[in-house]
Amino acid sequence: MRFSRLLIPTTKETPNDATLASHIYLIRGGFIQSVGGSGLYNFLPLGKKVLDKVRAVVKDELDQAGCQEVSLSFVTPASLWQESGRFEKYGKELLRFKDRKNNDFILGPTHEEMMVNLVRQSVKSYKQLPLNLYQINLKFRDEIRPRFGLMRGREFLMKDGYSFHASQEDMQREFALMEETYKKIFTRLGLEFRVVEADSGAIGGSGSKEFMVLADSGEDTIVVCDSCEYGANIEAAVRKEKACESEAPEAVFAKFHTPATETIEELSKFFHVDPYYLVKTVAKKALFDEGETKVILFALRGSDELQEVKACNAVNANDLVDISEEELAEVGLVAGYMGPTVVPEGVSIVLDNTLKEASSMICGANEKDYHLIGNSFIGVEADYHDLVAVQEGDLCPCCGEPMRYTKGIEAGHIFQLGTQYSEPLGANFLDENGKSQPMVMGTYGIGVSRLLAAIIEQNHDDKGCIWTKESAPFDLQVIISNIKDDEQVALGEKLYEGLKAKGLDVLLDDRKERFGPKIKDYELLGVPQAVIIGKKLQDGLVEFVSREGLVKEEVSADTILDVVMQKVN
Ligand code: ATP
Ligand code: MG
Repeated sequence: MRFSRLLIPTTKETPNDATLASHIYLIRGGFIQSVGGSGLYNFLPLGKKVLDKVRAVVKDELDQAGCQEVSLSFVTPASLWQESGRFEKYGKELLRFKDRKNNDFILGPTHEEMMVNLVRQSVKSYKQLPLNLYQINLKFRDEIRPRFGLMRGREFLMKDGYSFHASQEDMQREFALMEETYKKIFTRLGLEFRVVEADSGAIGGSGSKEFMVLADSGEDTIVVCDSCEYGANIEAAVRKEKACESEAPEAVFAKFHTPATETIEELSKFFHVDPYYLVKTVAKKALFDEGETKVILFALRGSDELQEVKACNAVNANDLVDISEEELAEVGLVAGYMGPTVVPEGVSIVLDNTLKEASSMICGANEKDYHLIGNSFIGVEADYHDLVAVQEGDLCPCCGEPMRYTKGIEAGHIFQLGTQYSEPLGANFLDENGKSQPMVMGTYGIGVSRLLAAIIEQNHDDKGCIWTKESAPFDLQVIISNIKDDEQVALGEKLYEGLKAKGLDVLLDDRKERFGPKIKDYELLGVPQAVIIGKKLQDGLVEFVSREGLVKEEVSADTILDVVMQKVN
């Protein structure tokens, strides 16, 4: 394509809400355009081209894995979401509206209900299973804080796939196939990524994995082991059991006056006891459906930190929020002196798994300036869950080596769903014995538009984008330095036509511009390779440039076509 004919409105100006490289360069490079500055974007010709290339890689690999593409209506009747129970539950991210007949609708933030509805109408027998259907379509989520450009938009492009099976085993086979397929997709896109265990919500278990593109700017903290394959989102990470070297404070159960010991540190100093033997009690207000709330105490060892997503899942709440000292006082609790042993009525307790069978523990007495010593949880029946936030240096649950934190961008998420949607929506099939059963499902997402941002987060320098081979808007850019030089123009045109004939997608910079802005645009747009036709053509030479590192090499003008073909392939 000819630069002179394309709409590529590059600019030197950084949008004032942009902090991430991908956001800045995608706007400055004229790939995308913000609409009203609130998580809505237009894709300009170059952005659309990159989006289509990424989409093509996703589609190609999915089709090879036997998935079938469909396209579902974006506008979704609320009745389907009422059937699944999500219409009320989903919260403010769900955009709800009415049509002229006063019927309720939503804009799909995800399409489980829609796909189950499609399948339940046409699949009746085990003979039609398994089935893996996907679409690459718009989603809308009224995100509370849309930001970082394509990273967290309100309207965005997602590949969402759903598989339907006659058995749990068959769904797990497909889940493994999707994991492999996703790895192929992210590898082809030239991304450095990690597959990690993810939070599976209230369902729990290891039924969910995320594909994290590694980047310092990532919003997710992931825990990784460098000695083996283990990796997990901090929301789901586990560790090898931790021991404590210092001795346990042997004591008989008693109430003890402990003034000014409101923090674990103060308490540890007061008793000269390792925080391992202190109970840290964190109060939260849990929010449930229909405005119901409840005060919950989460108790764990003083040496550990609470992981709030784990805590939220443990009580099946929609959210956990902080609670003020006044609210605590209302239910009979004192900040700094809370504990799980004797609690006021109406307050629930959840204990961390590491307290199961723990003894010699010191905890708050739920009375100002008092703690209880000599607490034992041996044989105590209670609500135990894993509540711990794994720390850097904690040992890997698989191989026992120390783990570390890193940052990732969630680019994909695969999930073993079971019958969570097929049951309420009545997506049943007749099994081999003629018995009706709900279909077992898996669900698989990829943030296609977010991937553009992720690719640039991982591949850029201080001048602009550096697209990977399969995501690049063009294979090569040919830059004619001086459009008034007939010889330069002639070679540029010849190269352009010659490379096109060989199947390359070439951008010819034939603009009546000075050389400076042309090279700046090249650096900003990030096409992986370029040929610069400049003054040295008089000596029969042109320059071949690799965008990564801006490495330049002089090549004879006579052989440049062959050299390009070699380098690009
Ligand atoms: P996040 O935790 O980042 O909000 P999510 O877990 O809510 O994402 P999923 O429901 O798993 O997202 O959606 C599948 C994929 O869609 C995600 O892995 C992500 O790549 C992409 N995605 C989700 N929300 C957005 C958004 N607001 N803008 C762009 N892409 C998104
Ligand atoms: Mg997710």
